[in-house]
Amino acid sequence: MTEKHRRFLRAVRAFIPRERVYTDYLRRLAWGTDAGFYRLVPQIVVRAAHEEEIVRIMRAAARLDVPLTFRAAGTSLSGQAVSDSVLVVAGKHWERCEVLDGGRAVRLQPGVVGARVNEVLKPFGYRFPPDPASIRSAMAGGIVMNNASGMNCGTHANSDRMLLSARLVLADGTLLDTGDEASRRDFSRSHGEFLRAVEALRDRVRGDEALTRRILHKYSIKNVMGLNLLPLVRFDDPFEIIAHLMVGSEGTLAFLAGVTMRTEREYEHKASAMVYFSDIGEASRAVVEMRKLQDAAGERIVHSAEMLDSKSLASVGDATGEGLTAVLTETKAHTPEALAANVARIGELLERFALYVPARFTDDPAEQAKYWAVRSGIFPAVGGSRPAGTTCLIEDVAFHIEDLPRATAELQALIARHGYDDACIYGHALEGNYHFIINQSFSTPAEVARYEALMNDVAELVVGRYDGSLKAEHGTGRNMAP
Ligand SMILES: Cc1cc2nc3c(=O)[nH]c(=O)nc-3n(C[C@H](O)[C@H](O)[C@H](O)COP(=O)(O)OP(=O)(O)OC[C@H]3O[C@@H](n4cnc5c(N)ncnc54)[C@H](O)[C@@H]3O)c2cc1C
Repeated sequence: MTEKHRRFLRAVRAFIPRERVYTDYLRRLAWGTDAGFYRLVPQIVVRAAHEEEIVRIMRAAARLDVPLTFRAAGTSLSGQAVSDSVLVVAGKHWERCEVLDGGRAVRLQPGVVGARVNEVLKPFGYRFPPDPASIRSAMAGGIVMNNASGMNCGTHANSDRMLLSARLVLADGTLLDTGDEASRRDFSRSHGEFLRAVEALRDRVRGDEALTRRILHKYSIKNVMGLNLLPLVRFDDPFEIIAHLMVGSEGTLAFLAGVTMRTEREYEHKASAMVYFSDIGEASRAVVEMRKLQDAAGERIVHSAEMLDSKSLASVGDATGEGLTAVLTETKAHTPEALAANVARIGELLERFALYVPARFTDDPAEQAKYWAVRSGIFPAVGGSRPAGTTCLIEDVAFHIEDLPRATAELQALIARHGYDDACIYGHALEGNYHFIINQSFSTPAEVARYEALMNDVAELVVGRYDGSLKAEHGTGRNMAP
């Protein structure tokens, strides 16, 4: 342990009981491990229990120049919840979940598990919009700070869109609740210059038309690269800008002690179909058209279109046919009549495309669950069958929807060119967001060089050629920082 960490340890032991401060190797290793492929072992792990502790931790860290990393559930994939300094865990003890306005909003502490929020909202007929596949483990603090999303929330209902206010502890130990008038007033008095700097940044961005247009374009698709710049364009109020800047900041700007978010009304009726195509280009073209389908009220008709390439289908033992691509398509409605109308509209649209077998929608929950289990099974199936000594990596890129047919084919060819024969491509095609999974060894310089060459080419394709996002939902982390 370094000298400054020793001094930090003495400082926190003065106000946090010993049973919540770990320095033994086993617990540092265990708490220091997240779901990504980076290994850093923190020197100290502190399990904070309330705001006052966080304030004092922040002040001690600032005084002693000790870096802090926060952790909620630790399911991050890009190396954003690991540290070789101090890991501050805020999960247990931070589990309050308060329903507001008959379910239209929720106030959450950072340690509430996402699925728990949905359980609490269910009787009110509402749901928590951000929907990472890890929702049974991931917690509100991690979901918001990663701007995590999944099959349904896209860019229209992610944490940035749904956030109403944030309760923050800043690096100097100041507590700011952007939803509380008195807190805003106090902050304006103590941090006037800080607010003026935020306003100046906002005005600089707004004063530059080309930059404003560029920011709007970059965030018109799922994009979690670096800090979230969209609030500088969207909001006038500096407190709104500060609160929304937190979304996707991965714990680099403040500690999130609480968050108030809007929810979405749950749909009572759903139908899904596994739609098979012989050609991935045709599948992509169909998805582009599905995205345009709207009902009379202007609502999207297709709510999810999850693409599964032939390797993904093979990984989960789908035996429908050789070399197929499937699009798991879902539509939702508030009445059975509206659902039937949606299914008919999608059916009409699909008649224009070459399907391997006719599409068949089901509203049977058990059958739907089977389809979605196939989709959810890909990552564990590929990871589970990886050769010993390799690491299962999941990448997460996004393209503008109109680029999808060409970009999908080029991405597939690029991965094959680098010799990743077992790589799968799948994901949220409706949002132009694909994951690809590779089983990578880091044991030899040649394998490291192969991974580097692949990632350089992916960056060139996604950003250089298509102006897309290198991370759409899994966060920047250590992985995308370079
Ligand atoms: C099997 C699997 C499937 C996944 N599927 C998806 C998916 O579909 N979509 C998706 O977007 N992601 C997915 N992920 C990634 C990950 O689960 C999500 O990003 C999740 O939201 C992280 O939540 P967490 O509670 O684990 O946060 P953590 O990993 O603990 O932390 C996430 C980030 O937030 C910061 N942080 C945590 N708490 C606070 C706080 N109180 N204040 C300030 N900063 C804080 C951390 O420092 C870190 O940078 C998946 C991961 C796995 C393992």
